Amino acid sequence: MTMTQHGRNLDTEQWQELDRLHHLHPFTDSKALHGKGSRIITRAEGVYIWDSDGRRILDAMAGLWCVNIGYGREELARAAYEQMQQLPYYNNFFQTTHPPAVDLAELLSQVTPAHLNHVFFTNSGSEANDTVVRMVRRYWDIKGQSARKVIISRENAYHGSTVAGASLGGMKPMHRQGGLPIPDIEHITQPYWYALGGEQAPEEFGLQAARALEEKIRALGANRVAAFIAEPIQGAGGVIVPPRSYWPEISRICKKYDVLLVADEVVCGFGRTGKWFGSEYFGLQPDLMAIAKGLSSGYQPIGGVMVSDAMADVLNYQGGEFQHGFTYSGHPVCCAVAAANIRILRDERIIERAEEQTVPYLQARIREFESHPLVGEVRGAGMLGAVQFAKDKRSRRPFDSPGEAGNLCKDHCMDNDLVMRAVGDSMILSPPLIISKTEIDEIMEKATLAIDLTARDLGIS
Ligand SMILES: *Cc1c(COP(=O)(O)O)cnc(C)c1O
Repeated sequence: MTMTQHGRNLDTEQWQELDRLHHLHPFTDSKALHGKGSRIITRAEGVYIWDSDGRRILDAMAGLWCVNIGYGREELARAAYEQMQQLPYYNNFFQTTHPPAVDLAELLSQVTPAHLNHVFFTNSGSEANDTVVRMVRRYWDIKGQSARKVIISRENAYHGSTVAGASLGGMKPMHRQGGLPIPDIEHITQPYWYALGGEQAPEEFGLQAARALEEKIRALGANRVAAFIAEPIQGAGGVIVPPRSYWPEISRICKKYDVLLVADEVVCGFGRTGKWFGSEYFGLQPDLMAIAKGLSSGYQPIGGVMVSDAMADVLNYQGGEFQHGFTYSGHPVCCAVAAANIRILRDERIIERAEEQTVPYLQARIREFESHPLVGEVRGAGMLGAVQFAKDKRSRRPFDSPGEAGNLCKDHCMDNDLVMRAVGDSMILSPPLIISKTEIDEIMEKATLAIDLTARDLGIS
């Protein structure tokens, strides 16, 4: 099938050849890719994407966890078109602003938790977290506590791919490529009961995992610690939903030592958990919140940092100029599209309807996999799910070659026109919030086949 782009009419193989010659892909083993050629996605609608051979694929990952309102919303295209005609670009540096940035800032203050009423715009989640690093250190500087520089994060966290984002993240293979983390970033354990909980009950383990923060603060000295950053639910790390005991204990510790709490809501925000923000899902009161992905449902690149009233007061009125910003901070087209996205989420009650109807359905249906011989655990919350494979169900023993089962299963999904992601030996789901029950049934049918085939490949029954 030929696909046209700017008048160029090429078939799948021609696009693949040009891609191989000129395009360096993010998070891709190019040598492996070039052996088989890239999959070329050409259009999308609702929860489906189409490839250049005309195959319709159910996208159970919503792109990269971001297409919360689903593909193909014309209102967002119109918002971009109209904004480009009106004012395609202007910046917000040096005492200037424009209506799309102000409109979105106000909207964000309305939909985020009550005490977060200020936003610093970025172009991505990584830049949001870079901004967090600079902003918390700046804040403590202004407060006369410049020794507070250390930011504590968690192992297996994902906070982006820039130098600061990857340093905050707890992915060891990322650290090894490029000599990270940068100084004054420390990592503690993660609340991943299935892999780390041993014989402990989940709630007991959750408390213990949280107390690792207190131990780390004490070891460093509280007067050196600026902030703790974490995803309410770890996304890229494998949809790790902490035990209920975890977050209240973390909040208590941050308050006790005056350590700022930063929620990385890049995945959890804008309805992913069935609430508007993961912070609401867990009852957190973060000082800062990093946002991106669902902010525009991925239709435009935009992110930001939501700042509490108390912090904004210090940053705005006590410190003079914050020497930080991006040429495209608050880009008018991105802001216009994000605002259209938020209005659709709000006015069509997409999050509330998902929470009432399709979230309970998805969560119940994926738990049917618990009885499968290959499956050790099914976990999830909201429109997030993970099916964890294990060699031995009862002992939770992992496979001898980690990642093999996940990889096999991911390929079987794709062969069957379903996008699920493998994180190690967990299969991950994060579909658009507008997914219907019938479409959830289709995921189940396809995922069941893929898991059965994986079990057969591994000789498990
Ligand atoms: C994706 C992600 C990021 C990075 O966002 P980019 O827009 O890719 O830079 C940061 N934090 C979390 C939790 C993410 O999932």
